[in-house]
Formats: sequence, structure tokens, C-alpha cells
Amino acid sequence: MRKSALVTGASRGIGRAVAAALAREGWPVCVNYLERRDAAEALVRDLRAQGRAAVALQADVADRAAVEAMVRAASEELGPVELLVNNAGISRQGLFQDLDDETWERLLAVNLTGPRNAVRAVLPHMLGEKRGCIVSISSIWGLRGGSCETAYAVTKAGVIGLTRSLALELAPSGIRVNCVAPGCVETDMVRALGEETRTMLAEETPLGRLGKPEEIAEAVAFLASEKAAFITGQVLTADGGFIV
Ligand code: NAP
Repeated sequence: MRKSALVTGASRGIGRAVAAALAREGWPVCVNYLERRDAAEALVRDLRAQGRAAVALQADVADRAAVEAMVRAASEELGPVELLVNNAGISRQGLFQDLDDETWERLLAVNLTGPRNAVRAVLPHMLGEKRGCIVSISSIWGLRGGSCETAYAVTKAGVIGLTRSLALELAPSGIRVNCVAPGCVETDMVRALGEETRTMLAEETPLGRLGKPEEIAEAVAFLASEKAAFITGQVLTADGGFIV
């Protein structure tokens, strides 16, 4: 039976690790990217060298038509998308009163409308088959709020609301919807904060370090697997104890 997994924002960081983990679990994987085509294609080459089916597809998740075209292309190349991982995301730091409209709208468009666009694009097939799985990446800041990250925290809280609501609505159709809320993870997003903040975040984490993308990928792979067949509507926090 042909089926595939779509991971948005899989050229780097957590998304890249998720795509690799799902491929290891046997999923043909669509590696979505925005700008870094070389990185996405390098991952696809690696996966194919390991005997896995994979394809790199460009789309801005904020662009509904582009997402729909990507889902069509992924379905044709690899099989219908039965696992969606909403990972693509961006963050911005700054005081709330300095937050301009453009930044606010772009964060909402990528981090919240992006998952909405992807879910809408994959749903017709999932509803038709009465099976499917959606895992989105929220954040601890979506659970507890984040000073100087208001827009980001709002979008990540929105992802939790989307997850819980869709879980209830789609459960009768056999579709599970969950999310993972990572703590601070060693990726470009956190590296951009600078060495001092990185060290502070590691010290504030009870386990005393930042997480690895692969550790978040394991949480996603679990929620996507049959081991989690009775789990829906949940937020799995993977944060080294940051929120206890
Ligand atoms: P990252 O290293 O900055 O990578 C971001 C990925 O998203 C890249 O593959 C990028 O593609 C892609 N992307 C960005 N905007 C996109 C768009 N509009 N359409 C499609 N793809 C887009 O980020 P990360 O740290 O791995 O974060 C991944 C997810 O985890 C995000 O949702 C983030 O909010 C969440 N998260 C991260 C942390 C953390 O500590 N790192 C903690 C909690 C939650 P290109 O490479 O082509 O630009």
C-alpha cells in the first residue's frame, strides 16, 4: 500500500532529524524546504543511499496554493500523505511594543496558518481512507508564554489549540492529532540567539543541556507510530525538565 510522510521545514534542524527518523521507520518521506534546496536535496540523497524513498519539495507553508501543489506532488511521487509533521517555523525576539505588523503577520502565517494549510491539503485523503496521523511542533513557550517572544509564543499556543480541536473533530474519522513541545534544542534557531543566551538556556534546563534534534525526532516518531495508537489530542513535552 503506497503512503508517505510529509515533514515541513525538513532541510535543517528538528525537521531534518524527523525526516531521517521517519525514513528509518520505513516511511517514504517528502522533505519540504523554503530556501535551502541544497540542504534538502543532500538529505534526500542520503536517505536514498540508505535505500529509502524520499523527495525534496519547495513550498512556503504560508502559501496555501503552494502547499496544495506540494501535497499533490508528494502523493504522486511517493504515495498519498498519511502522516503530516508540521515542523516549519520561524521565531523573532524583541519587546512586544517594538513588534511591527509585518513580523507579527509573518509569524502567524508561517507558524499557525502554515499548519492549517498543510492539514487542509492532506485531509481529503485521510478522511476518505479514515486513517492518518498529524504531529505538529509546538514549543514550551506556547505552554508557558515567553518574554520578548510574544508573537512566537502566541503561534505555538495556537498550535496546541489546533491540535486539541482537530483531535476531537477527527477522532471519529480515525485520524490522530498530537503535538510535541520541545524545550531549547541545538539548532540554527537557538544558535541565532547568541552564545550567552544559549548557555543561559542550557543552565536553566534541569538536565543541564540543550536538546538534540534527534531527541525531538524520537518523540515525533513515537506519536506517529502504532505504539501511540490510543493517543490523540496530547502535547508531549520534550524539554529536559524545563516545564515540570
Ligand atoms: P531551524 O533550524 O531554523 O529550521 C527551520 C526549518 O523550517 C528549515 O528547514 C526552513 O527551511 C523551514 N522553514 C522556515 N520557514 C518556512 C516556510 N515558510 N515554509 C517552509 N519551510 C520553512 O528551526 P528548528 O529549530 O529546527 O525548529 C523547527 C520547529 O521546531 C519550529 O516550528 C520551531 O518553532 C520549533 N521549536 C524549536 C525549538 C528549538 O529550540 N530549536 C524549540 C521549540 C520549538 P530553509 O532551510 O529552506 O530555510
